[in-house]
Amino acid sequence: MYFDYGLAGLLMRRAIITPDAPAVAFGKEPVATYRQLMRRVEAFSAWAGTLGLPKGARVAIVLKNHPAWFEIMFGCWHAGLSVVPVNVKLHAQEVAYILDDCQASLMFFDSENTAAAEALSLVKAARGIAIDTSEYSDILHSSGGAPVAVGPGSLAWLFYTSGTTGKPKGAMLSHGNLLAMCQCYATDVEPEGMGSTLLHFAPMSHGSGLYMLPHVLHGSLQVVPESRGFNVGELESLLEHYDAVSFFAAPTMVTRLVDNVRGSLPGLHTVICGGAPMYVSDAFRFLERFPNKLAQIYGQGETPMTITSLPKSLHDLAHPRSRERLASCGVAQTGIEVRIVDDTGQQLPAGELGEIIVRGPTVMAGYWKRPEETAKALKAGWLYTGDIGTFDSEGFLTLKDRSKDVIISGGSNIYPREVEEILLLHPKVKEVAVLGQQDDEWGETVVACIVTDEHPGTINAELEELCLNHIARFKRPKHYLYMSSLPKNATGKVLKAELRGLLKPGA
Ligand code: AMP
Repeated sequence: MYFDYGLAGLLMRRAIITPDAPAVAFGKEPVATYRQLMRRVEAFSAWAGTLGLPKGARVAIVLKNHPAWFEIMFGCWHAGLSVVPVNVKLHAQEVAYILDDCQASLMFFDSENTAAAEALSLVKAARGIAIDTSEYSDILHSSGGAPVAVGPGSLAWLFYTSGTTGKPKGAMLSHGNLLAMCQCYATDVEPEGMGSTLLHFAPMSHGSGLYMLPHVLHGSLQVVPESRGFNVGELESLLEHYDAVSFFAAPTMVTRLVDNVRGSLPGLHTVICGGAPMYVSDAFRFLERFPNKLAQIYGQGETPMTITSLPKSLHDLAHPRSRERLASCGVAQTGIEVRIVDDTGQQLPAGELGEIIVRGPTVMAGYWKRPEETAKALKAGWLYTGDIGTFDSEGFLTLKDRSKDVIISGGSNIYPREVEEILLLHPKVKEVAVLGQQDDEWGETVVACIVTDEHPGTINAELEELCLNHIARFKRPKHYLYMSSLPKNATGKVLKAELRGLLKPGA
């Protein structure tokens, strides 16, 4: 039965329940119903079965958002293979590093992606198949394709951490981990009810691809925008065309949406925001325009999308503690244990700051072929996230920063996010990143990198006053650096390591 086949079983079940329901569209064009998608998946799996690959062999997908993602992902799982989603913006050397590290047998890519093609020439062991060739379309004409049974512990998704520092590591996520994530989605992210359409604006190699799964479970239509990325004009047009639309978005996408959308977005069901801090002022701006349309999640590749959530019902601006709640990333998801611990691993009470650790069915088995790194991240079944946070008495978790981003100045800890939240109160500040700069006297001093349309330096005095009015004096930035944009990775996280490089003497 379908439950013997892990994630492939999600689609098999759905193709039995609603075979004629639309499953995939490209822009406004229908691509496949659930029955047709199932056929493509079986064809892919039949072809994969002829290759003689061992069970669990790794298949890299280096593709911009595209309808082919669906048949490749589910086709791999149907054939008992594992998926390695690769960020399409990576450099050839970085793609080659991942292909080599996970010993990928196959790689699917767009032939226009020269970095992926170059990576293939560096890693000879992987066979590359461009999806815009007849080689790929022939695969979908194969026939047969019996599913391969997998256990809940089998590797499904080898997720390379975004690597804002150091070399990426592959977090091993099993079929069981991602099935548990699907259940969390229904119970914790959209408990008020899921929409009937999922738009893939954010990269499918990351959160958007994972959220494909609960939406297959639910039988939604999944739409890949023609722009294959985030485009506000296309968003408005698709929201007029489709009903009850949800999509996953990094906070930067949410602010672009608020800044650029004119109308009321009638087709919008939920924007699910996560992956980086959503500043309180940005959440307020969104909710004032689009009440009851925002949900937030906090997770990491090692327990994807599943640590805490702030569903729509907790975004009520009329609630007396709305500001505190919006500054938090919500409450622990169902079946997920979350604790705050000190440096020795001792649990801390509500109100105290410490490292966030997590245990539950969504937590990875470890990092691919990295026993030492695994032992550092997983201790006695608990995942040490490297994030610093605190619980309030009601169980709302507020994230401060990654432990490595904390600034220590004159022996005091300064959490950049706290300073960033204040600087963003200035109406002329569009984006901000706060970090520490080495200093002989203080150890580190606070530097704020500001994106604004104002002439550099003209608002320094106003920013200084804002900080003095809201936070302790020692936390205020000593220097302001003005830039036209902040460096970010493909999932919208600010690359603080790159900014720190700019601060180095002589850089
Ligand atoms: P990744 O593994 O690429 O998904 O990155 C995970 C990291 O992103 C987490 O450990 C956090 O530092 C950060 N992150 C994820 N979600 C949130 C959120 N809702 N608020 C603040 N930071 C977040």
